Amino acid sequence: MAKVTIRDIRVILTAPVGINLVVVKVETSEPGLYGLGCATFTQRFLAVKSAVEDYLKSFLVGKDVDNIEDIWHSCMVNSYWRNGPVLNNAISGVDMALWDIKGKRAGMPVYQLLGGKCREGAAVYRHADGRDVHEVEDNVRKYMEQGYRYIRCQLGGYGGRVQKLSSPENAPPGAYYDPDAYAMSVPKLFDHVRSKIGFEVELLHDVHERLQPIEAVRLAKNLEPYRLFFLEDALPPEQISWFETIRNQCAVPLAMGELFVHPCEWTPLIANRLIDFIRVHISAIGGITPARKLAALCEAFGVRTAWHGPGDVSPVGHAANVHLDVCCPNFGVQEWSGISEPLAEVFPGSPEVRNGYVYPNDKPGLGIDIDEEKAAKYPCENRVIKWTVARTPDGTSVKP
Ligand code: MG
Repeated sequence: MAKVTIRDIRVILTAPVGINLVVVKVETSEPGLYGLGCATFTQRFLAVKSAVEDYLKSFLVGKDVDNIEDIWHSCMVNSYWRNGPVLNNAISGVDMALWDIKGKRAGMPVYQLLGGKCREGAAVYRHADGRDVHEVEDNVRKYMEQGYRYIRCQLGGYGGRVQKLSSPENAPPGAYYDPDAYAMSVPKLFDHVRSKIGFEVELLHDVHERLQPIEAVRLAKNLEPYRLFFLEDALPPEQISWFETIRNQCAVPLAMGELFVHPCEWTPLIANRLIDFIRVHISAIGGITPARKLAALCEAFGVRTAWHGPGDVSPVGHAANVHLDVCCPNFGVQEWSGISEPLAEVFPGSPEVRNGYVYPNDKPGLGIDIDEEKAAKYPCENRVIKWTVARTPDGTSVKP
């Protein structure tokens, strides 16, 4: 096979549904041959664009597209400081694009390059939200009718919003939540849903780092009777040593990792069997190259995958998730936020969901493209995202 080199690298910014998405396009010396990768860090999209175009591009132009491992490692160490979300996302954009190119050159979908399918489709979970327990129940039923068998239940977004706040004078504006009100509401929610719907559907819940560690221990214990498929992000990355305490006290399956960027965060949790599902945001750890190794590490310790799949992953990133899902034996479940009309138009070839399973297509590479003209119709906006300015009732800034 003739040598093909990287000719150009460009970042495409687009927000078809109001969420800033970052896509990297790697163009090659072979006319018409290019690859796409997801580098989405919604809240710092301009920093990622700069990392790709001002730093990685000049380092990579002229390099052989075949050498994905070498390119990944050299990009990671070339800045000396490494393992941060901006650089990891930038490298992911290039990494996924190189896998896309390798698949196109081989005439095979990426899942074939990774070992081939061990399942035809990947089970997904949807988000059932509601202002009260009845609305959540209605939304769970709606998803069940559509064929979904895994459903995440949340009360009022990530919960803890209270009607009347008792805050000190001059408390600053923000997205306020009350961790105690939140912690008490969740067992009531699951008591209601299980009593009305039974145990035929798998239920999940995301704590979203809203609790002090000891409160997270108490919540996990309180949720044990409701047989969750998993409890997500019970602790923030800064407090992962507390997982052992939860583990020692209850058998609630634990999912963790959407904020992880450094191997030192996930390795001890996996090797000590302190979690059941790894939930990393694949672009935030550097792309398909580290994700396939992470999946293999998890397999050895009985941990399953549940890659982060919210709206702030581009359809290119969703495609990468799904290619991994169908070929990892230790796949658990895939979060699915849905691909709405404007997204599907900008990203032809997006993965499709039917009856609760998501399917990759069988085109070579990641099987997804971007319509740059349509993408340009939806410019990204550099603004502070309201929910990220979280505060507790006394006005303290906390994790959102
Ligand atoms: Mg989450």
